[in-house]
Amino acid sequence: MRQDAELLVAEGITRRYAMRRGLMGRTVEVRAVDGVSLKLERGRTLGLVGESGCGKSTTGRLVLGLESPDAGSVAFEGRPMPAPDTQPWRRLRARMQMVFQDPLGALDRRLTIGAQVAEPLEIHDIGGKADRTARAAELLRSVGLRPDQAARYPHELSGGQRQRAVLARALATDPAMLVCDEPISALDVSIQAQVMNLLVEIQDRLGLGILFISHDLRAVRQVSHRVAVMYLGRIVEEGEPDAVLRDPAHPYAQALVSAIPHPGKVGRGIVLQGDPPNPADRPRGCAFHPRCAVATAMCARETPVLKPRPVDGRLVACHVAQGEVAPGLGPMREAA
Ligand code: SF4
Repeated sequence: MRQDAELLVAEGITRRYAMRRGLMGRTVEVRAVDGVSLKLERGRTLGLVGESGCGKSTTGRLVLGLESPDAGSVAFEGRPMPAPDTQPWRRLRARMQMVFQDPLGALDRRLTIGAQVAEPLEIHDIGGKADRTARAAELLRSVGLRPDQAARYPHELSGGQRQRAVLARALATDPAMLVCDEPISALDVSIQAQVMNLLVEIQDRLGLGILFISHDLRAVRQVSHRVAVMYLGRIVEEGEPDAVLRDPAHPYAQALVSAIPHPGKVGRGIVLQGDPPNPADRPRGCAFHPRCAVATAMCARETPVLKPRPVDGRLVACHVAQGEVAPGLGPMREAA
């Protein structure tokens, strides 16, 4: 298995949408993703975490080429990502697949599991009918399903079995990269660990690069080799899971980590101040400053840049974590 060879490089990708405010309101620009850079190597998993609406899923769509960035670039296996829905993009699509949150929604209720696992081979014109049937049986076995389950329909499988079938389908064209968008959040807790173990086992076997998008920090920690924390379209901290998820440097990452439930935990952890972010109304300076307990006057003026922290080289976008300014008292207490 080849490891650590660069598979995907995204540099400064930005995606804007126009959004109308109210029925007669003016149109405002929303930056769903704002200058995100990330790298993914073969055989490695990058965990992308953050609250719902922070731009994680849009980032996933951009790196798959399902949408084009308004600025920045995406390169896959050393070549620029072709425009969506073009012939070169469709050819490349076999090498990168997506696994969605809801396995029932991702499968067609009218087709057997076997037909759906073999479908990508048909789309990409790989093998004859007998080869595809044999390959579908092999793929089902590789994800822990029985070949005879090829004849079943999606509603005849359990949630965990359906997600295994979705994985088998994603692996049909021998991809180099998987983008998994909340792949376990629709599953029972008892099944989640099995699906994550399967993902790790598949990666070890096939050397896939995986972008694992989730709001579940425990799951991200279990499967990731590197973690990036997103807030309002930007990456605010990035590093090894043991560093970022044990000892986060950015105040937003600290709040996320403090909210992870664990046995014996007392209290709710750090409670974020203010409302959840509205991407159409991005605060000036650091976008987190209206909710940050240690915000300073500088935070409302100057946008922090994601860069290595002098003390340990951790990538953090925060004036305080970078040591540029002493912790403040936060906006709420300043106003009191
Ligand atoms: Fe942002 Fe300032 Fe808080 Fe750092 S301390 S997260 S720069 S508001």
